Amino acid sequence: MNNHASAMMRTQALQDSGRSGLETPTALIIGSGVIGAASAYELGKAGFACTLLDKGGWSLEASTAAAGMLGAQVEIHRDGPFYELCRASLGMYREWVRELEDWSGIPTQYIAEGILRAAMTDEDEAELRSRLPWMRDADWMSAEELLRVESELSPAVRGGLYLPADHQVHPVWLAKSLKAAISRQGCLIKEWTPATKLLTDETGRVCGADTPEGELYADLVVLAAGAWSSPLAETLGLKLPIFPVKGQCISVRTDAPLIRATVFTKGCYIVPKSDGTYIIGATQQQVGFDKRAKVSAIADLHEKAAALLPRMADAEFVSTWTGLRPGTEDELPFIGAWEGAPGLIFATGHYRNGILLAPITGRLVAQLAQGSATELDLAPFAPARAERLAEQQIPLIR
Ligand SMILES: Cc1cc2nc3c(=O)[nH]c(=O)nc-3n(C[C@H](O)[C@H](O)[C@H](O)COP(=O)(O)OP(=O)(O)OC[C@H]3O[C@@H](n4cnc5c(N)ncnc54)[C@H](O)[C@@H]3O)c2cc1C
Repeated sequence: MNNHASAMMRTQALQDSGRSGLETPTALIIGSGVIGAASAYELGKAGFACTLLDKGGWSLEASTAAAGMLGAQVEIHRDGPFYELCRASLGMYREWVRELEDWSGIPTQYIAEGILRAAMTDEDEAELRSRLPWMRDADWMSAEELLRVESELSPAVRGGLYLPADHQVHPVWLAKSLKAAISRQGCLIKEWTPATKLLTDETGRVCGADTPEGELYADLVVLAAGAWSSPLAETLGLKLPIFPVKGQCISVRTDAPLIRATVFTKGCYIVPKSDGTYIIGATQQQVGFDKRAKVSAIADLHEKAAALLPRMADAEFVSTWTGLRPGTEDELPFIGAWEGAPGLIFATGHYRNGILLAPITGRLVAQLAQGSATELDLAPFAPARAERLAEQQIPLIR
């Protein structure tokens, strides 16, 4: 029996036994974005009886505003632990969605085409070439080679990185799939139920959350509230510097298919989806919790897309939307426990890469919850670094 089948049988057995046996550990997950949902999914597989809260409807924030790139190579600008975290998650993805789709019956629209990271200027070319010595799964392609792969690219493209392993999913379908899977595992989902305060017991251990419907208790709590995580940490007196970074995307359709791979250049990417549309993204602004979509952003994204793929000039406009990425000062997520808050697992601050990082984050949360050794060293992502970061004011927007 493979791991997936045994996890399914284990969960079924827990459900059949009423799932409320004294020995069944419980978890309360705050946030139905991809990080909270992936955490609930992995905790469910590990035998936890989960309750998941969201202040709104199912996954209506950053996770369904994303483009869905699994950009372990394209998004990372330097070697180090974050690159390893991204590569670990990318390495899990295909099998993770296959198993998720078995649980849910809902396809995530995984597309196994890579990303072309095109350079349009000397400076960009030099920066991309400088990454080659430490990158894995990356090749340099000349302009001619790129045009052979994607013939609609602008002749202004100077060459670029071919990243065959950076695949994609559709974030909206991923969210639907995660909801169906965790529901099937028996997770209790409470939408429109904000956590207003984290609760502690007499020993100081985090033991639940207060909500307008009353207090909810669990053996452990997972903080996965994305850009809204800081005020909840603050209810424990913890300073967790996470802030919203607004991104706007547009969706367009063309008469005939233009590209198979995702094409990406500085300030713009175009992600072809299986329904024949393209997601063009994304703006990046620190304007607080303002989520209004701007006409100027639509014009700007369209102009940049047409510079990369000239036939985009005549595309049909489909829609636009915005989302708030959970940003951190050092651009690293907070994953792990914190001495100052026993009973609480942090899974937040995934900034530009939460879709990519969902599988590994969910698995790490489950490993922490079970008290087992984590498969990666979490020191670089330790929530305790928040105290130091809270003192710093590093401008995030590159
Ligand atoms: C335009 C755009 C494009 C992106 N493209 C990509 C991409 O291509 N690839 C990629 O990997 N990443 C991408 N990202 C980043 C990715 O979307 C985020 O990193 C990821 O969605 C973060 O997930 P999350 O679950 O932490 O946050 P969210 O999805 O924001 O979820 C947090 C949830 O917590 C809930 N919540 C908040 N406070 C409370 C409370 N007090 N009580 C209960 N619930 C609460 C919220 O309602 C929300 O549903 C993109 C982001 C944007 C905005």
